[in-house]
Amino acid sequence: MEPTTFVLFGATGDLAKRKIYPALYNLFVDKKLPSSFTVFGLGRRELTDETFQANVEKSILTFSRRKANDPVQLKQFINAFRYNVLDIGRKEDYQKLLNRIEQREQELAVTPNRLFYLSVGPEFFETIASNIKESGLGSAAGWKRLIIEKPFGRDLQSARWLNQQLSQAFAEHEIFRIDHYLGKPMVQKLGILQQNNPVLNALWTSRYIANVQITASETVGVEERAAYYDHSGAVRDMFQNHMLQLLMMLATHLPKNSSSEEVRSRKKQVMESLVPLQPYEVAASVIRGQYQAGQINGEPVIGYTSEPNIAPDSMNDTFIAAKLQIDGAFWRDVPFYIRTGKRMKEKSTRIVIEFKEPVQQRNNETKTPNLLVFEISPNEGITLQLNSNEPGQSGDVEPIHLAFHMNGSEMPEAYESLIHSALYGDATYFAHWDEVELSWKWVDPILKAFEENLAPLHYYPAGSYGPAESDELLARDGFHWWFDSKPEQAAEEKEFALHVNK
Ligand code: NAP
Repeated sequence: MEPTTFVLFGATGDLAKRKIYPALYNLFVDKKLPSSFTVFGLGRRELTDETFQANVEKSILTFSRRKANDPVQLKQFINAFRYNVLDIGRKEDYQKLLNRIEQREQELAVTPNRLFYLSVGPEFFETIASNIKESGLGSAAGWKRLIIEKPFGRDLQSARWLNQQLSQAFAEHEIFRIDHYLGKPMVQKLGILQQNNPVLNALWTSRYIANVQITASETVGVEERAAYYDHSGAVRDMFQNHMLQLLMMLATHLPKNSSSEEVRSRKKQVMESLVPLQPYEVAASVIRGQYQAGQINGEPVIGYTSEPNIAPDSMNDTFIAAKLQIDGAFWRDVPFYIRTGKRMKEKSTRIVIEFKEPVQQRNNETKTPNLLVFEISPNEGITLQLNSNEPGQSGDVEPIHLAFHMNGSEMPEAYESLIHSALYGDATYFAHWDEVELSWKWVDPILKAFEENLAPLHYYPAGSYGPAESDELLARDGFHWWFDSKPEQAAEEKEFALHVNK
Protein backbone atom coordinates (compact mmCIF):
# COMPACT_ATOMS: atom_id res chain seq x y z
CA MET A 1 0.00 0.00 0.00
CA GLU A 2 1.33 3.44 -0.88
CA PRO A 3 2.23 6.01 1.81
CA THR A 4 -0.82 8.12 2.59
CA THR A 5 -1.71 11.34 4.36
CA PHE A 6 -5.29 11.06 5.61
CA VAL A 7 -6.83 14.54 5.94
CA LEU A 8 -9.99 14.43 8.03
CA PHE A 9 -12.43 17.35 8.02
CA GLY A 10 -14.80 17.07 11.01
CA ALA A 11 -12.21 15.34 13.21
CA THR A 12 -13.92 16.54 16.40
CA GLY A 13 -17.35 15.26 15.31
CA ASP A 14 -19.53 12.31 16.21
CA LEU A 15 -18.92 10.22 13.09
CA ALA A 16 -15.15 10.47 13.44
CA LYS A 17 -15.33 9.46 17.08
CA ARG A 18 -17.76 6.56 16.74
CA LYS A 19 -16.80 5.11 13.36
CA ILE A 20 -13.70 6.51 11.66
CA TYR A 21 -11.09 6.23 14.45
CA PRO A 22 -12.19 2.74 15.51
CA ALA A 23 -12.16 1.66 11.84
CA LEU A 24 -8.62 3.01 11.34
CA TYR A 25 -7.50 1.31 14.55
CA ASN A 26 -8.85 -2.09 13.48
CA LEU A 27 -7.21 -1.71 10.08
CA PHE A 28 -3.95 -0.93 11.86
CA VAL A 29 -4.24 -4.06 14.04
CA ASP A 30 -4.94 -6.12 10.91
CA LYS A 31 -1.89 -4.55 9.21
CA LYS A 32 -4.10 -3.08 6.54
CA LEU A 33 -2.84 0.52 6.76
CA PRO A 34 0.10 1.80 4.73
CA SER A 35 3.36 1.50 6.66
CA SER A 36 3.75 5.25 6.28
CA PHE A 37 0.46 6.80 7.37
CA THR A 38 -0.33 10.17 8.96
CA VAL A 39 -3.76 11.52 9.95
CA PHE A 40 -4.35 15.27 10.02
CA GLY A 41 -7.54 15.93 11.99
CA LEU A 42 -9.26 19.27 11.31
CA GLY A 43 -11.85 21.34 13.16
CA ARG A 44 -12.46 24.82 14.50
CA ARG A 45 -11.82 23.80 18.09
CA GLU A 46 -8.40 24.75 19.44
CA LEU A 47 -6.71 21.46 20.32
CA THR A 48 -3.08 20.48 20.70
CA ASP A 49 -1.81 17.34 18.98
CA GLU A 50 -1.62 15.70 22.43
CA THR A 51 -5.23 16.48 23.38
CA PHE A 52 -6.39 15.28 19.99
CA GLN A 53 -4.44 12.05 20.35
CA ALA A 54 -5.95 11.54 23.81
CA ASN A 55 -9.44 12.05 22.33
CA VAL A 56 -8.75 9.52 19.57
CA GLU A 57 -7.50 7.03 22.14
CA LYS A 58 -10.64 7.50 24.21
CA SER A 59 -12.85 6.89 21.19
CA ILE A 60 -11.01 3.64 20.45
CA LEU A 61 -11.33 2.45 24.02
CA THR A 62 -15.05 3.26 23.91
CA PHE A 63 -16.13 2.27 20.41
CA SER A 64 -13.69 -0.20 18.86
CA ARG A 65 -15.18 -3.64 18.14
CA ARG A 66 -11.89 -5.13 19.37
CA LYS A 67 -10.55 -4.35 22.82
CA ALA A 68 -7.38 -2.27 22.62
CA ASN A 69 -5.47 -4.30 25.20
CA ASP A 70 -1.96 -3.80 23.86
CA PRO A 71 -0.83 -0.34 25.07
CA VAL A 72 2.34 -0.37 22.95
CA GLN A 73 0.38 -1.09 19.80
CA LEU A 74 -2.20 1.58 20.69
CA LYS A 75 0.53 4.17 21.30
CA GLN A 76 2.15 3.34 17.97
CA PHE A 77 -1.18 3.90 16.25
CA ILE A 78 -1.96 7.15 18.08
CA ASN A 79 1.44 8.61 17.15
CA ALA A 80 0.24 8.90 13.55
CA PHE A 81 -2.34 11.57 14.54
CA ARG A 82 -1.88 15.36 14.25
CA TYR A 83 -4.40 18.16 14.68
CA ASN A 84 -4.79 21.42 12.80
CA VAL A 85 -7.26 24.20 13.48
CA LEU A 86 -9.13 24.91 10.26
CA ASP A 87 -12.28 26.90 9.58
CA ILE A 88 -13.75 25.59 6.35
CA GLY A 89 -14.42 29.07 4.96
CA ARG A 90 -11.00 30.54 5.86
CA LYS A 91 -8.58 30.19 2.95
CA GLU A 92 -5.45 30.98 4.98
CA ASP A 93 -6.11 27.90 7.16
CA TYR A 94 -5.66 25.68 4.09
CA GLN A 95 -2.26 27.28 3.43
CA LYS A 96 -1.17 26.58 7.00
CA LEU A 97 -2.41 23.01 6.64
CA LEU A 98 -0.52 22.56 3.37
CA ASN A 99 2.71 23.75 4.98
CA ARG A 100 2.33 21.29 7.83
CA ILE A 101 1.44 18.38 5.58
CA GLU A 102 4.38 19.09 3.26
CA GLN A 103 6.71 19.27 6.24
CA ARG A 104 5.50 15.87 7.48
CA GLU A 105 5.76 14.27 4.03
CA GLN A 106 9.33 15.56 3.73
CA GLU A 107 10.21 14.25 7.21
CA LEU A 108 8.98 10.82 6.18
CA ALA A 109 10.42 11.18 2.67
CA VAL A 110 7.21 9.87 1.10
CA THR A 111 5.25 10.57 -2.07
CA PRO A 112 2.46 13.04 -1.28
CA ASN A 113 -0.59 10.83 -1.68
CA ARG A 114 -3.53 12.55 0.02
CA LEU A 115 -6.90 11.16 0.99
CA PHE A 116 -9.38 13.89 1.99
CA TYR A 117 -12.28 12.63 4.11
CA LEU A 118 -15.22 15.06 4.50
CA SER A 119 -16.96 14.06 7.73
CA VAL A 120 -18.88 17.35 7.86
CA GLY A 121 -22.31 18.60 6.78
CA PRO A 122 -22.95 18.47 3.01
CA GLU A 123 -23.31 22.25 2.90
CA PHE A 124 -19.49 22.39 3.24
CA PHE A 125 -18.54 19.94 0.46
CA GLU A 126 -18.30 22.48 -2.31
CA THR A 127 -16.29 25.06 -0.32
CA ILE A 128 -13.83 22.43 0.89
CA ALA A 129 -13.29 20.97 -2.58
CA SER A 130 -12.68 24.37 -4.09
CA ASN A 131 -10.30 25.42 -1.27
CA ILE A 132 -8.36 22.17 -1.62
CA LYS A 133 -7.84 23.01 -5.26
CA GLU A 134 -7.05 26.69 -4.76
CA SER A 135 -4.61 26.15 -1.89
CA GLY A 136 -2.55 23.60 -3.80
CA LEU A 137 -3.39 20.84 -1.32
CA GLY A 138 -4.75 18.83 -4.20
CA SER A 139 -1.95 19.36 -6.69
CA ALA A 140 0.95 17.39 -5.27
CA ALA A 141 2.97 14.82 -7.22
CA GLY A 142 1.13 11.81 -5.76
CA TRP A 143 -2.51 10.86 -6.03
CA LYS A 144 -5.46 12.63 -4.39
CA ARG A 145 -8.82 11.16 -3.40
CA LEU A 146 -11.97 12.51 -1.81
CA ILE A 147 -14.29 10.54 0.48
CA ILE A 148 -17.70 12.05 1.13
CA GLU A 149 -20.54 10.99 3.36
CA LYS A 150 -24.19 11.07 2.38
CA PRO A 151 -26.41 12.98 1.87
CA PHE A 152 -25.44 13.71 -1.71
CA GLY A 153 -28.02 16.34 -2.66
CA ARG A 154 -31.67 16.43 -1.64
CA ASP A 155 -33.12 15.95 -5.13
CA LEU A 156 -31.92 15.48 -8.70
CA GLN A 157 -31.23 19.15 -9.30
CA SER A 158 -29.23 19.79 -6.10
CA ALA A 159 -27.26 16.54 -6.56
CA ARG A 160 -26.31 17.55 -10.11
CA TRP A 161 -25.25 20.98 -8.95
CA LEU A 162 -23.12 19.53 -6.15
CA ASN A 163 -21.50 17.05 -8.49
CA GLN A 164 -20.66 19.79 -10.93
CA GLN A 165 -18.97 21.79 -8.16
CA LEU A 166 -16.97 18.80 -6.89
CA SER A 167 -15.90 17.81 -10.37
CA GLN A 168 -14.09 21.13 -10.76
CA ALA A 169 -11.61 19.96 -8.11
CA PHE A 170 -11.75 16.13 -8.35
CA ALA A 171 -12.23 13.76 -11.28
CA GLU A 172 -14.91 11.06 -10.91
CA HIS A 173 -12.29 8.33 -10.36
CA GLU A 174 -10.97 10.36 -7.41
CA ILE A 175 -14.36 10.69 -5.66
CA PHE A 176 -15.42 7.94 -3.24
CA ARG A 177 -19.06 8.42 -2.15
CA ILE A 178 -19.75 6.39 0.96
CA ASP A 179 -22.99 4.46 1.22
CA HIS A 180 -22.15 2.46 4.31
CA TYR A 181 -24.60 -0.30 3.33
CA LEU A 182 -22.14 -1.15 0.55
CA GLY A 183 -19.52 -1.77 3.23
CA LYS A 184 -21.58 -4.45 4.97
CA PRO A 185 -20.03 -7.90 4.49
CA MET A 186 -23.26 -9.57 3.40
CA VAL A 187 -23.97 -6.86 0.81
CA GLN A 188 -20.50 -7.36 -0.65
CA LYS A 189 -21.18 -11.10 -0.69
CA LEU A 190 -24.28 -10.68 -2.89
CA GLY A 191 -22.14 -10.24 -5.99
CA ILE A 192 -19.43 -12.69 -4.93
CA LEU A 193 -21.94 -15.50 -4.29
CA GLN A 194 -23.59 -14.98 -7.61
CA GLN A 195 -20.32 -14.80 -9.55
CA ASN A 196 -18.92 -17.94 -7.97
CA ASN A 197 -21.97 -20.20 -7.81
CA PRO A 198 -23.42 -21.23 -11.14
CA VAL A 199 -26.42 -22.64 -9.29
CA LEU A 200 -27.34 -19.16 -8.03
CA ASN A 201 -26.44 -17.48 -11.29
CA ALA A 202 -28.76 -19.82 -13.16
CA LEU A 203 -31.68 -19.08 -10.84
CA TRP A 204 -31.28 -15.29 -10.98
CA THR A 205 -34.09 -14.72 -13.49
CA SER A 206 -37.80 -14.20 -13.81
CA ARG A 207 -38.10 -17.81 -14.92
CA TYR A 208 -37.61 -19.00 -11.33
CA ILE A 209 -38.10 -15.99 -9.08
CA ALA A 210 -41.61 -14.87 -8.12
CA ASN A 211 -40.69 -11.71 -6.24
CA VAL A 212 -37.92 -10.03 -4.23
CA GLN A 213 -38.47 -8.28 -0.90
CA ILE A 214 -35.97 -5.86 0.60
CA THR A 215 -36.68 -4.58 4.11
CA ALA A 216 -34.68 -2.24 6.35
CA SER A 217 -36.60 -1.61 9.55
CA GLU A 218 -35.55 0.28 12.65
CA THR A 219 -37.13 0.32 16.11
CA VAL A 220 -35.79 3.78 16.95
CA GLY A 221 -37.76 6.95 16.23
CA VAL A 222 -36.42 10.28 15.02
CA GLU A 223 -34.10 10.59 18.08
CA GLU A 224 -32.11 13.87 18.11
CA ARG A 225 -32.16 14.27 14.34
CA ALA A 226 -35.46 16.19 14.06
CA ALA A 227 -33.98 19.21 12.25
CA TYR A 228 -32.53 17.01 9.51
CA TYR A 229 -35.05 14.19 9.39
CA ASP A 230 -38.23 16.25 9.24
CA HIS A 231 -37.02 17.74 5.96
CA SER A 232 -35.68 14.54 4.57
CA GLY A 233 -37.95 11.65 5.54
CA ALA A 234 -37.46 7.95 4.88
CA VAL A 235 -37.39 8.51 1.13
CA ARG A 236 -34.27 10.71 1.22
CA ASP A 237 -32.67 9.26 4.34
CA MET A 238 -32.88 5.59 3.36
CA PHE A 239 -34.68 4.87 0.11
CA GLN A 240 -32.82 6.94 -2.49
CA ASN A 241 -29.43 5.72 -1.33
CA HIS A 242 -29.25 2.55 0.83
CA MET A 243 -32.36 0.77 -0.46
CA LEU A 244 -31.68 1.42 -4.13
CA GLN A 245 -28.05 0.36 -3.65
CA LEU A 246 -29.29 -2.95 -2.18
CA LEU A 247 -31.57 -3.36 -5.18
CA MET A 248 -28.68 -2.71 -7.59
CA MET A 249 -26.36 -5.11 -5.78
CA LEU A 250 -28.96 -7.86 -5.85
CA ALA A 251 -30.26 -7.42 -9.38
CA THR A 252 -26.96 -7.14 -11.27
CA HIS A 253 -25.70 -10.14 -13.21
CA LEU A 254 -21.95 -10.15 -12.78
CA PRO A 255 -19.47 -12.19 -14.79
CA LYS A 256 -16.77 -13.94 -12.74
CA ASN A 257 -13.90 -11.70 -11.56
CA SER A 258 -15.78 -8.54 -12.52
CA SER A 259 -13.72 -5.38 -12.31
CA SER A 260 -14.87 -2.32 -10.40
CA GLU A 261 -15.88 -0.71 -13.74
CA GLU A 262 -17.89 -3.81 -14.68
CA VAL A 263 -19.76 -3.80 -11.36
CA ARG A 264 -20.56 -0.12 -11.71
CA SER A 265 -21.66 -0.47 -15.30
CA ARG A 266 -24.00 -3.38 -14.43
CA LYS A 267 -25.46 -1.44 -11.50
CA LYS A 268 -26.06 1.48 -13.82
CA GLN A 269 -27.88 -0.83 -16.24
CA VAL A 270 -30.23 -1.91 -13.43
CA MET A 271 -31.08 1.70 -12.63
CA GLU A 272 -31.58 2.53 -16.32
CA SER A 273 -34.00 -0.40 -16.62
CA LEU A 274 -36.15 0.61 -13.65
CA VAL A 275 -39.62 1.46 -14.94
CA PRO A 276 -40.04 5.16 -14.13
CA LEU A 277 -43.03 6.52 -12.23
CA GLN A 278 -44.93 9.68 -12.97
CA PRO A 279 -46.05 11.72 -9.92
CA TYR A 280 -49.71 10.84 -10.56
CA GLU A 281 -48.81 7.10 -10.57
CA VAL A 282 -46.96 7.19 -7.25
CA ALA A 283 -49.97 6.48 -5.03
CA ALA A 284 -50.58 3.16 -6.81
CA SER A 285 -47.15 1.71 -6.09
CA VAL A 286 -45.65 3.72 -3.23
CA ILE A 287 -46.96 3.67 0.34
CA ARG A 288 -46.08 6.68 2.44
CA GLY A 289 -46.36 6.20 6.20
CA GLN A 290 -45.83 7.95 9.51
CA TYR A 291 -45.68 6.37 12.96
CA GLN A 292 -48.15 7.13 15.69
CA ALA A 293 -47.94 6.32 19.39
CA GLY A 294 -47.52 2.62 20.13
CA GLN A 295 -45.29 0.16 21.92
CA ILE A 296 -41.72 -0.95 21.32
CA ASN A 297 -40.71 -4.05 23.26
CA GLY A 298 -43.67 -3.58 25.58
CA GLU A 299 -42.80 0.06 26.39
CA PRO A 300 -45.10 2.89 25.30
CA VAL A 301 -43.60 5.38 22.84
CA ILE A 302 -44.96 8.66 21.46
CA GLY A 303 -46.03 9.34 17.88
CA TYR A 304 -43.86 11.18 15.34
CA THR A 305 -45.65 14.53 15.58
CA SER A 306 -45.30 14.53 19.40
CA GLU A 307 -41.52 14.12 19.16
CA PRO A 308 -39.42 17.14 20.26
CA ASN A 309 -38.87 19.73 17.50
CA ILE A 310 -41.29 18.08 15.06
CA ALA A 311 -44.17 20.28 13.87
CA PRO A 312 -47.52 18.91 15.15
CA ASP A 313 -48.87 18.99 11.59
CA SER A 314 -45.80 17.44 9.94
CA MET A 315 -46.64 15.21 6.97
CA ASN A 316 -43.13 13.78 6.84
CA ASP A 317 -42.70 10.13 5.83
CA THR A 318 -41.11 7.87 8.46
CA PHE A 319 -41.97 4.80 6.36
CA ILE A 320 -41.98 4.03 2.68
CA ALA A 321 -42.86 0.84 0.82
CA ALA A 322 -42.67 0.61 -2.96
CA LYS A 323 -43.14 -1.82 -5.78
CA LEU A 324 -40.49 -1.50 -8.49
CA GLN A 325 -40.22 -3.19 -11.86
CA ILE A 326 -37.04 -3.76 -13.84
CA ASP A 327 -37.69 -3.84 -17.55
CA GLY A 328 -34.86 -6.12 -18.67
CA ALA A 329 -34.54 -9.66 -19.97
CA PHE A 330 -33.74 -11.13 -16.54
CA TRP A 331 -36.28 -9.41 -14.34
CA ARG A 332 -39.30 -8.59 -16.50
CA ASP A 333 -42.49 -9.30 -14.46
CA VAL A 334 -40.64 -9.88 -11.18
CA PRO A 335 -41.86 -7.31 -8.65
CA PHE A 336 -39.24 -5.90 -6.28
CA TYR A 337 -40.89 -4.78 -3.05
CA ILE A 338 -38.84 -2.41 -0.93
CA ARG A 339 -39.76 -1.02 2.47
CA THR A 340 -38.00 0.93 5.18
CA GLY A 341 -39.24 2.67 8.29
CA LYS A 342 -38.66 3.88 11.80
CA ARG A 343 -40.38 2.66 14.97
CA MET A 344 -41.12 -0.71 13.45
CA LYS A 345 -41.47 -3.99 15.27
CA GLU A 346 -37.89 -5.18 14.82
CA LYS A 347 -34.49 -3.88 13.80
CA SER A 348 -33.54 -5.81 10.71
CA THR A 349 -32.16 -5.48 7.19
CA ARG A 350 -33.05 -8.49 5.11
CA ILE A 351 -33.54 -9.57 1.50
CA VAL A 352 -35.97 -12.38 0.74
CA ILE A 353 -36.10 -14.05 -2.67
CA GLU A 354 -39.32 -16.00 -3.15
CA PHE A 355 -39.16 -18.65 -5.85
CA LYS A 356 -41.98 -19.74 -8.14
CA GLU A 357 -44.09 -22.91 -8.09
CA PRO A 358 -44.69 -23.32 -4.36
CA VAL A 359 -45.48 -26.81 -3.06
CA GLN A 360 -49.15 -27.36 -2.21
CA GLN A 361 -49.44 -28.90 1.28
CA ARG A 362 -51.54 -32.03 1.48
CA ASN A 363 -53.41 -31.28 4.69
CA ASN A 364 -54.04 -27.61 4.46
CA GLU A 365 -54.19 -24.80 2.03
CA THR A 366 -50.80 -23.19 2.65
CA LYS A 367 -48.28 -23.22 -0.14
CA THR A 368 -44.61 -23.32 0.69
CA PRO A 369 -42.25 -21.69 -1.78
CA ASN A 370 -38.49 -22.03 -1.74
CA LEU A 371 -37.01 -18.94 -0.14
CA LEU A 372 -33.49 -17.60 -0.18
CA VAL A 373 -32.92 -15.14 2.65
CA PHE A 374 -29.97 -12.80 3.06
CA GLU A 375 -29.73 -11.40 6.58
CA ILE A 376 -27.71 -8.19 6.33
CA SER A 377 -27.98 -6.74 9.84
CA PRO A 378 -27.89 -6.91 12.80
CA ASN A 379 -27.13 -10.60 12.18
CA GLU A 380 -25.48 -11.75 9.00
CA GLY A 381 -26.30 -15.00 7.31
CA ILE A 382 -27.95 -16.85 4.46
CA THR A 383 -30.84 -19.29 4.78
CA LEU A 384 -32.37 -21.47 2.11
CA GLN A 385 -35.86 -22.84 2.67
CA LEU A 386 -36.42 -26.17 0.92
CA ASN A 387 -39.27 -28.68 1.18
CA SER A 388 -38.75 -32.16 2.56
CA ASN A 389 -40.41 -34.72 4.80
CA GLU A 390 -39.57 -36.54 8.01
CA PRO A 391 -38.86 -40.24 7.46
CA GLY A 392 -41.48 -42.38 9.19
CA GLN A 393 -43.80 -39.45 9.80
CA SER A 394 -47.06 -38.63 8.05
CA GLY A 395 -45.32 -38.03 4.78
CA ASP A 396 -46.33 -34.38 4.72
CA VAL A 397 -43.87 -32.16 2.96
CA GLU A 398 -42.51 -29.58 5.36
CA PRO A 399 -40.06 -26.72 5.00
CA ILE A 400 -36.51 -27.31 6.16
CA HIS A 401 -33.81 -24.66 6.45
CA LEU A 402 -30.18 -24.70 5.41
CA ALA A 403 -28.53 -21.88 7.29
CA PHE A 404 -25.14 -20.22 7.32
CA HIS A 405 -24.43 -17.57 9.95
CA MET A 406 -21.44 -15.31 10.18
CA ASN A 407 -19.77 -14.59 13.51
CA GLY A 408 -20.62 -10.95 14.31
CA SER A 409 -17.66 -9.99 16.52
CA GLU A 410 -15.17 -11.19 13.91
CA MET A 411 -16.71 -9.19 11.11
CA PRO A 412 -15.08 -5.93 10.04
CA GLU A 413 -17.34 -2.91 10.35
CA ALA A 414 -18.58 -1.29 7.13
CA TYR A 415 -16.28 1.72 7.65
CA GLU A 416 -13.24 -0.54 7.91
CA SER A 417 -13.69 -2.17 4.55
CA LEU A 418 -14.69 1.09 2.88
CA ILE A 419 -11.71 3.07 4.17
CA HIS A 420 -9.46 0.16 3.26
CA SER A 421 -10.82 0.12 -0.30
CA ALA A 422 -10.39 3.89 -0.63
CA LEU A 423 -6.76 3.62 0.51
CA TYR A 424 -6.25 1.08 -2.27
CA GLY A 425 -8.18 3.17 -4.76
CA ASP A 426 -10.76 0.42 -5.28
CA ALA A 427 -14.12 2.05 -5.96
CA THR A 428 -16.21 -1.13 -6.33
CA TYR A 429 -18.25 -0.56 -3.17
CA PHE A 430 -18.76 3.19 -3.49
CA ALA A 431 -21.63 4.96 -5.21
CA HIS A 432 -20.64 6.18 -8.67
CA TRP A 433 -22.15 9.47 -9.82
CA ASP A 434 -24.17 7.67 -12.52
CA GLU A 435 -25.88 5.57 -9.84
CA VAL A 436 -26.54 8.57 -7.62
CA GLU A 437 -27.95 10.58 -10.51
CA LEU A 438 -30.18 7.75 -11.75
CA SER A 439 -31.41 7.09 -8.19
CA TRP A 440 -32.46 10.70 -7.74
CA LYS A 441 -34.05 10.65 -11.17
CA TRP A 442 -36.18 7.66 -10.17
CA VAL A 443 -37.05 9.12 -6.77
CA ASP A 444 -37.82 12.70 -7.88
CA PRO A 445 -41.46 11.96 -8.93
CA ILE A 446 -42.02 10.41 -5.48
CA LEU A 447 -40.71 13.57 -3.80
CA LYS A 448 -43.00 15.62 -6.00
CA ALA A 449 -46.02 13.42 -5.26
CA PHE A 450 -45.36 13.66 -1.51
CA GLU A 451 -44.92 17.44 -1.66
CA GLU A 452 -48.13 17.89 -3.61
CA ASN A 453 -49.99 15.32 -1.53
CA LEU A 454 -50.72 13.15 -4.55
CA ALA A 455 -49.94 10.12 -2.39
CA PRO A 456 -51.90 9.91 0.88
CA LEU A 457 -50.08 9.68 4.20
CA HIS A 458 -50.97 6.43 6.00
CA TYR A 459 -50.44 6.02 9.72
CA TYR A 460 -49.09 3.01 11.61
CA PRO A 461 -48.70 2.33 15.30
CA ALA A 462 -45.13 2.31 16.58
CA GLY A 463 -44.01 -1.29 17.02
CA SER A 464 -45.85 -2.58 13.92
CA TYR A 465 -44.72 -3.51 10.41
CA GLY A 466 -45.96 -0.27 8.87
CA PRO A 467 -49.37 0.77 7.53
CA ALA A 468 -51.88 -1.89 6.44
CA GLU A 469 -51.64 -0.43 2.92
CA SER A 470 -48.08 -1.80 2.72
CA ASP A 471 -49.49 -5.32 3.14
CA GLU A 472 -52.14 -4.59 0.52
CA LEU A 473 -49.45 -3.55 -1.96
CA LEU A 474 -48.26 -7.18 -2.02
CA ALA A 475 -51.65 -8.80 -1.49
CA ARG A 476 -52.82 -7.27 -4.79
CA ASP A 477 -50.20 -9.45 -6.53
CA GLY A 478 -51.00 -12.52 -4.42
CA PHE A 479 -47.93 -12.15 -2.14
CA HIS A 480 -47.22 -11.15 1.44
CA TRP A 481 -44.21 -9.80 3.30
CA TRP A 482 -42.23 -12.69 4.73
CA PHE A 483 -41.27 -12.85 8.39
CA ASP A 484 -43.62 -10.23 9.74
CA SER A 485 -44.56 -12.89 12.34
CA LYS A 486 -48.18 -11.78 12.46
CA PRO A 487 -50.57 -14.16 14.21
CA GLU A 488 -52.39 -14.94 10.99
CA GLN A 489 -49.21 -16.08 9.26
CA ALA A 490 -48.20 -19.70 9.25
CA ALA A 491 -46.58 -21.21 12.33
CA GLU A 492 -43.56 -22.44 10.43
CA GLU A 493 -42.84 -18.95 9.25
CA LYS A 494 -42.58 -17.80 12.84
CA GLU A 495 -40.24 -20.68 13.55
CA PHE A 496 -38.19 -19.65 10.57
CA ALA A 497 -37.98 -16.08 11.85
CA LEU A 498 -36.78 -17.36 15.22
CA HIS A 499 -34.26 -19.58 13.51
CA VAL A 500 -32.98 -16.77 11.32
CA ASN A 501 -32.74 -14.38 14.26
CA LYS A 502 -30.79 -16.78 16.47
P1 NAP B 1 -21.02 16.56 14.04
O1 NAP B 1 -20.84 15.69 15.24
O2 NAP B 1 -21.94 17.71 14.12
O3 NAP B 1 -19.56 17.09 13.65
C1 NAP B 1 -19.39 18.09 12.69
C2 NAP B 1 -17.90 18.31 12.50
O4 NAP B 1 -17.76 19.35 11.54
C3 NAP B 1 -17.16 18.74 13.75
O5 NAP B 1 -15.92 18.10 13.78
C4 NAP B 1 -16.97 20.24 13.53
O6 NAP B 1 -15.77 20.64 14.15
C5 NAP B 1 -16.84 20.31 12.03
N1 NAP B 1 -17.22 21.63 11.53
C6 NAP B 1 -18.47 22.18 11.52
N2 NAP B 1 -18.42 23.41 10.97
C7 NAP B 1 -17.12 23.63 10.64
C8 NAP B 1 -16.44 24.73 10.04
N3 NAP B 1 -17.07 25.87 9.66
N4 NAP B 1 -15.11 24.62 9.85
C9 NAP B 1 -14.45 23.50 10.23
N5 NAP B 1 -15.04 22.44 10.78
C10 NAP B 1 -16.36 22.51 10.99
O7 NAP B 1 -21.45 15.73 12.76
P2 NAP B 1 -21.25 14.15 12.48
O8 NAP B 1 -22.34 13.40 13.14
O9 NAP B 1 -19.85 13.79 12.81
O10 NAP B 1 -21.54 14.04 10.93
C11 NAP B 1 -20.64 14.51 9.94
C12 NAP B 1 -21.26 14.23 8.57
O11 NAP B 1 -21.42 12.83 8.38
C13 NAP B 1 -22.64 14.85 8.36
O12 NAP B 1 -22.76 15.24 7.03
C14 NAP B 1 -23.58 13.69 8.62
O13 NAP B 1 -24.79 13.83 7.90
C15 NAP B 1 -22.77 12.53 8.06
N6 NAP B 1 -23.10 11.25 8.69
C16 NAP B 1 -23.01 11.09 10.03
C17 NAP B 1 -23.29 9.85 10.59
C18 NAP B 1 -23.15 9.61 12.06
O14 NAP B 1 -23.31 8.46 12.48
N7 NAP B 1 -22.84 10.61 12.88
C19 NAP B 1 -23.67 8.78 9.77
C20 NAP B 1 -23.74 8.97 8.37
C21 NAP B 1 -23.46 10.21 7.85
P3 NAP B 1 -15.66 21.94 15.09
O15 NAP B 1 -16.92 22.04 15.85
O16 NAP B 1 -14.44 21.66 15.94
O17 NAP B 1 -15.43 23.05 14.16
